[in-house]
Order: sequence, then C-alpha cells, then structure tokens
Amino acid sequence: MHPPQPRERLIVALDVPTLEEALRLVRALRGQVRIFKVGLQLYTALGPDIVRRIREADGEVFLDLKLHDIPNTVGNALSEACRLGVRMATLHTLGGPRMLERAREAADQAGAAAPKLLGVTVLTSLSGEELARMGFNERPEALVLRLARMAADCRLDGVVCSPLELARLGREGLGPLFFVTPGIRAAGAPSDDQSRTLTAGEAIRAGAGYIVVGRPIVRAPDPATAAEGILAEMEAAVKLL
Ligand code: C5P
Repeated sequence: MHPPQPRERLIVALDVPTLEEALRLVRALRGQVRIFKVGLQLYTALGPDIVRRIREADGEVFLDLKLHDIPNTVGNALSEACRLGVRMATLHTLGGPRMLERAREAADQAGAAAPKLLGVTVLTSLSGEELARMGFNERPEALVLRLARMAADCRLDGVVCSPLELARLGREGLGPLFFVTPGIRAAGAPSDDQSRTLTAGEAIRAGAGYIVVGRPIVRAPDPATAAEGILAEMEAAVKLL
C-alpha cells in the first residue's frame, strides 16, 4: 500500500536534459520530495550514473523506462535496476504475463530492496483509431481494465493511470494494486499538452496512491514553493478522506 505521508506520495518528473539541472532540482526540493522520476530522456543522456547521483543527494528514483522485451531480457534489466537501488520501475503490461511474472521474480530476489513494479497499460497518446489499426478492437477503457487486471494477477505492485481512469479503476477491486497518476495541474493552471487533468487534491480523493508532477514544479520560478502548494493540497485531501 502507499505511505500515509503526502511527502512520500509526490513524485517529481525530472524531465530535464542535463545532470546539473536534475541535481539542482533534487537539492532544491530536499525535505519536500523524496521520489524523482527518471525517464527515457535523462537515462539515455546520462545512464545509470543519474540514479546513483540522485541517491547520493538523498533522493529515491522512479525509473520510468517502460520495459517491454522478452521475459529473460526484462528480468535481467530489472535485476540491474535492483542493484542500482531504484525504488519504482515501469514496464509495459503489453509485454504479456510471462514477462510480468519474470519481472516479479527478479524483483523478489532483491528482497526488501525490491523496487515497486508499475505496469503501464495503454499509452494515453494512443487514439481509439490507432488502437484499432494495431488490432485492439475493444474500447480503450476496457483494454486498460483488462491489462490492469492482468498486472494484478501477475503480482505487480501498481499501475500508472491517467486522471480519467483513476476513479473507475479504483472501483474495480484490483486487490492491492496502487495507482500512480500523472496529469496533475493546479485549478486554472495551463494544462500544457495534457488533455485531461486533475488537481493534486482531486487525484488523492479519487484514489491515487502517488501523483507525478513535472512542469508545474520543474518549470516554476521557485520549484520548492510550487511543491509546497501541491503538498498542501494533498495534505488537505488526505484529511478529508
Ligand atoms: O509535466 P507534466 O506534469 O505533464 O509531466 C508528467 C510526467 O508524467 C511526464 O514525465 C510524462 O511523460 C508522464 N506521463 C504522462 N502521461 C502518461 C504517462 C506518463 O504525463 N499517460
């Protein structure tokens, strides 16, 4: 389950191109934010060193590489992620149940240091039309649910889901799966390229275990003040639950 403290439940997406910018953010947010998301851009630019450097600066790493390959390759990649000490890692549920199970085994071998495994279901960038071209003829919402169930069956810890999916998945009784939700904006703030957004408070009330925030903090003139505002909203929402 997710930790009770809002400070443990806010993940900042380090969508920046350089080590200096990433570490500046980690240091600026020390004491407020524990978990930082490293995605494809930063990892491709800097490799595993970025994980070590964030950990040295007292941060934890959510490694968002959305692994999708044959079970053996994904299992081995996860074993390396365990050795690096990442706290959360993503993989595509479309890699199939054997891939997810192999990932689970690799994480279990790391014991208490195992990262939480998060399944990605259907990328929110895919339209219904594209999905049909790819051979998926059921409604995207039904496909999301099917893949989230499979993630639960394969003992993943959580799934990444959009604000739009949060409430519905929460009602489906997916066991101990928790939900990690991007697409968070303050009320009235620009949505950037996100088509559906919730405020941090709404997301927590709708059942998000963790929220992922990028630009509203990373591009703020003062990231610490922006993070404080979001944490205050989360705290207020937790009290109302
Ligand atoms: O800047 P913003 O708050 O929109 O960043 C959200 C983060 O969550 C980005 O790193 C983005 O890639 C990620 N994400 C997302 N929507 C998804 C999956 C991941 O915004 N469906």
